[in-house]
Order: sequence, then C-alpha cells, then structure tokens
Amino acid sequence: MVNDTTRLLGLDGLVVDRVRLDPDGVPVVALSTADEQAQCCPDCGVRARRVKDWVTTRPRDLPVAGRATRLRWRKRRWHCDHGGCRRRTFTEQVAQVPARHRVTARLRQAAGAAVADGARTVVQSARDHDLSWPVVAAAFTAHAGVVLPDEPEPVEVLGIDETRRGRPKWVFDQVSQAWQSSVDRWHVGMCDLSGGQGLLGQVEGRTAQVVIDWLGHRSQTWRDQVRYVAIDMCTIFKSAVREALPHAILVVDHFHVVQLAHQALNEVRRRVTVQVRGRRGRAGDREWDLRNRLTRSARRMRAERVDKLCDEIAGLPAGISVPVLAAWNAKEDLLDLLALARTHPDRENVARLLHRFYQRCADSGLPELARLATTIEIWWPQILAFLHTGITNAGSEGTNRVIKTVARDAYGFRNPINQRLRTRCATTRKSRGHLNPA
Ligand SMILES: [Zn+2]
Repeated sequence: MVNDTTRLLGLDGLVVDRVRLDPDGVPVVALSTADEQAQCCPDCGVRARRVKDWVTTRPRDLPVAGRATRLRWRKRRWHCDHGGCRRRTFTEQVAQVPARHRVTARLRQAAGAAVADGARTVVQSARDHDLSWPVVAAAFTAHAGVVLPDEPEPVEVLGIDETRRGRPKWVFDQVSQAWQSSVDRWHVGMCDLSGGQGLLGQVEGRTAQVVIDWLGHRSQTWRDQVRYVAIDMCTIFKSAVREALPHAILVVDHFHVVQLAHQALNEVRRRVTVQVRGRRGRAGDREWDLRNRLTRSARRMRAERVDKLCDEIAGLPAGISVPVLAAWNAKEDLLDLLALARTHPDRENVARLLHRFYQRCADSGLPELARLATTIEIWWPQILAFLHTGITNAGSEGTNRVIKTVARDAYGFRNPINQRLRTRCATTRKSRGHLNPA
C-alpha cells in the first residue's frame, strides 16, 4: 500500500493515491487515510463502524522538492455508536493534520521556527510560507514555548542592563511651563555573562522592585550560585542586587567609567569656551578641532602624537588651556587606573593611582571634575571589583544591540509580551546552536 510518492511526501497516516498537474502546472496530490487510529472516536476511543459521509479537505503543506503542491485528502466522517459517548460524529484526523486544521503541523512548525530560530520577521515568514500574519504569530508563540527553557541554568556572572522600548513621548506641562515625559517604556534584561545562555529574561519597567521580583522567582539554589553581578552605574540595580543577592559581588564596567570621564572633559571644554569666547565652539576654534583627539586614550596614541597634543593644548588661550589640560590629565589618570584591570594589581599601586586622580581633581578646582571624583568615590568598591575580576557588562550591551535590531526589524512592537518572547528567541540562538554553521 505504501508507494514511493507516499514515502517522498512523508505525512504519517496518509497515502498518496495519485498526483496530477492542474492547468497551471501545480501538482495536486490526492490522499487517503492509512491510519487505523483515524477510525477511532477521539472521545471514547472505540472504533467506529458506520460511515456518515465523505469529505475532502485541502490542508496547506510545505513545498515538495521546492514546488508548491496542493493536497486533497478525501476522508470519511464516522458515526460513533458507542453507548454513553456524547460525540455523535467525527472526521478522521492524523497527527500532521488534526481535525479542523487547514495547515499541516509541519508547515506551522516551519513558519514558527523561521521567526524563532531563523531571525525572520512574522511578516516575512508569513510571505515565505503563504500564511497569514496571525497564524504565523501563533505558530511562533507555540514554537518558542517548546524551544525556550522554562528556568535558566545556574549562572556565575549575571549582567543586568536596561533598554528603552520605543520612543519616549513628551508633553508640555502648562503649570510648571516645562516639557515632561508622559510615556517612557523600559525593559530590564538579565544576561548570562559567563555561561553563554544569552538573555535569561526581561522585565517591564525600570525599578528596583521588578528586578527583585524576577530574582525572587528563581530558586534559592540558583540565587546562591550567582557570584558576580555586572551593572552599569545605576543605583536602581545596585539596590535591587543588594536586596535580592546580598552575597554577590557587584562589578561596574570600565566602559561607563570612561564615558563619565569623557563627559566631564567635554563639559569643561564647552563651559570654558563659552566663558572665554562668549559663544559655543565651532570649526576654526582649536579646542573644537581637538575635541575628538582629547577623548582618545593617550596609551593608544604614538608618543610623538601625545606630545603634539599637549603642545596644542598649551597653545590654546589661557582661560581654555589650563582647565582643558587639567580635565584631560584627570581623564588619563582614570584610564591609567582602569588599565590595571586583569593584571592582578597590588593594593599600593591601586591606591597610588587613585590618589593621583583624586588629587588632580581637587587641585583643578573645576566643578565638573569634583563631580566626577564624587561619582568615582561612590562607586569605588564596584570599580575595584572590576580591577580584580576584569568582568565587564559588554555581553549585556551586545544583547541590547540584538534587542534593538529585532525591534527595528519588526517596526516596533505593540505587545510587550510578544516583544520579550521574540527578543529571548533572538538572543538565545547562539546557545541553542542556530548560529553554528556546523
Ligand atoms: Zn465516541
């Protein structure tokens, strides 16, 4: 009974009677039932004996050998005569084509997998599989539920970072005569930075409580296994980790420290430009032309370029040159300090470089550097933890890039639950083996 065409089509429980070409040259496959189980009532399981009528269904399926095909399954509707069974009639069904389904299970699965594992958008998968948007969206949700783990595996280094969801909206408040943000939506993501599990989960909002709640849903054993938590300089995450993971060591990434130093340097440059020149900087002002070179690390420049830069700063008008040089030196002091990371620095060396930085900020008398020094002081235990461990939050930032790419591909999401599911699928593809060419 099983012929070659049946084997080629591979729909269990169905046999191919014949294949003909319709006027457009599309293969039309006539199918009949070959599954004994299909004759049994789905409610009571008793085999039916009496045929009610015959029906033909046209389930949609994957292309065969790259060609779209049309399936025609002629099947029976049965009477269930078993006493006590509430079902009177039923139609035959097989695993790939359940009753009332107009799409085969494998087509649905392929459409969902294209979104979850192949990074296609729902719209594109719907076009590729000739299905509608809601069918593919439902197929994706079902597929994601199967492939995503319910609970994360143990994590040694946890990364926490936030991502803005969509654009903030601003309204003009008549009372305070100021623009205020009316809508500002955020997601906080938890990442595995040591084990490669990718994004473990996301929560809506940007408060300590949502992070505490997410960590609270994990088991005590799981929480005990987290040794380090990498965050950016955000007091919300600091307090959340203090409460939910009191034993974990907090680490602050050097990236954000350097960013702060650059901000302070740029603020000093802008302020003194306005004070000395009475206007904002523009092309032709030497300090404006040097602005990008000022924020480059001197360690990564050739010695003669550094000398030249120092000469250039010294040649600026007096009111600009002194503060800019002080801010530039403070930034370089901080970079020297951060360069100790991953070198097993001894305490004296760290203390010496930190003192040099604080002294430079204090001597300059610049408010921007005073603020920078205060921030460094507040976060010093976490920065010191970075110098000793070398742990960075780069993994979280990389995940954020994927999160934003997914959101842009989809032209934004209306439904945050769908967005989180799509994001998790996209950020765990590597750990699930979908980015491995082998
Ligand atoms: Zn029955």
